[in-house]
Amino acid sequence: MLAMNYRGPYRVRAEQKSDPVIEHPNDAIVRVSRSCICGSDLHLYHGLVPDTRVGMTFGHEFTGVIEEVGPGVQNVKVGDHVLVPFNIYCGSCFFCQRELYGNCHNVNPEATAVGGIYGYSHTAGGYDGGQAEFVRVPFADISATVIPNDIHPDDAVLLTDALPTGYQAAEMGDIEEGDTVVIFGAGPVGIFAAKSAWLLGAGRVIVVDHVEYRLEFVKNYAQCEVINFLEVDDMAVHIKKITDWLGADVCIDAVGCEAAGNAMQRLTGRYLKLQSGSATALHWAINSVRKGGTVSIVGVYGPTFNAVPIGNALNKGLTLRMNQASVKRHLPRLFEHIRAGHLDPKQIITHRVPLEEVSDAYHIFASKLDNCIKPILVPPR
Ligand code: NAD
Ligand code: ZN
Repeated sequence: MLAMNYRGPYRVRAEQKSDPVIEHPNDAIVRVSRSCICGSDLHLYHGLVPDTRVGMTFGHEFTGVIEEVGPGVQNVKVGDHVLVPFNIYCGSCFFCQRELYGNCHNVNPEATAVGGIYGYSHTAGGYDGGQAEFVRVPFADISATVIPNDIHPDDAVLLTDALPTGYQAAEMGDIEEGDTVVIFGAGPVGIFAAKSAWLLGAGRVIVVDHVEYRLEFVKNYAQCEVINFLEVDDMAVHIKKITDWLGADVCIDAVGCEAAGNAMQRLTGRYLKLQSGSATALHWAINSVRKGGTVSIVGVYGPTFNAVPIGNALNKGLTLRMNQASVKRHLPRLFEHIRAGHLDPKQIITHRVPLEEVSDAYHIFASKLDNCIKPILVPPR
């Protein structure tokens, strides 16, 4: 089959590799119809995630048609059109019973932190992902979810990660009626966090980024205020200034670690290039939230060490909440919001690129070219 193949930092290609096969009675093989590139894939692309092996196929946001099932699979059948959450989970361990599907113990028992994720290095189990013609889906009975007839396939693929992650980011903020919520990052996750913050009762929503076309998009799409951080001297002071000198009630980090060259921090009036993997947005979030406020972190930090101003967080009495999104937990509620017209996720899709051109798609998305917000890769028919 044709699949995206990782060759090293900044080098990804579409290449032929063996079709996946059923390895366990609970597996299914899915013929991919759509797969997205996610901001999380960029951490792999930038070489920031340990143990990302040459030859791995990325892609944890995909939909497709069930091609084959193992003898243990009962809830889905050949021909079903399904969406598959980015987490790989057993559904029955200590963590899955608590709906912490992103922390499943059985799929990646040697890891101390994360559970399994499709196409996300050997630190997340070493599973190949869906930027390919076919993908193996473990524990298909509890992860593969038949796409309801009234849900558009483009909305379905965004329900595998970006939308539930944005929603969980807002949910972990414990937003109270009327709260001011500041979101760092106007990528797909930050955009959906902004929409979700309104649904959860925010009274004011502000999104921070430096990519103008993304700020313009989120301003219209989520009806929120925006700040271009290149126009601000000191982020924490600026946020205080526009919040009666208290700070935001809730700050959300929808950025994560940054690649060298992207990473900047304004210190003493100048932007300094920071080390690869630095955590500027998280610093800003901790320093811009009010005392006693909540910082919700969904931005991903690939390297295991990132300098975090924990002293400020302690002295301000902050609540810090964070996790990989637990996609399955949010699906019923998000289906309802889409049906009710509260959310129209597919509007963020800007590019449809043949899988053969995966290298171009990564380049455009990573470099924020051509007004790119969310690219979809389309496998050959
Ligand atoms: P993206 O790369 O499309 O968007 C990130 C945005 O942040 C970009 O527009 C960039 O310009 C902006 N940015 C960079 N530095 C900034 C700063 N200091 N302040 C404000 N904005 C800044 O990525 P995405 O798909 O929206 O994902 C966002 C983050 O969420 C990534 O770290 C990704 O790994 C993570 N993520 C986490 C989960 C989860 O389950 N926790 C799931 C999906 C994605
Ligand atoms: Zn993702």
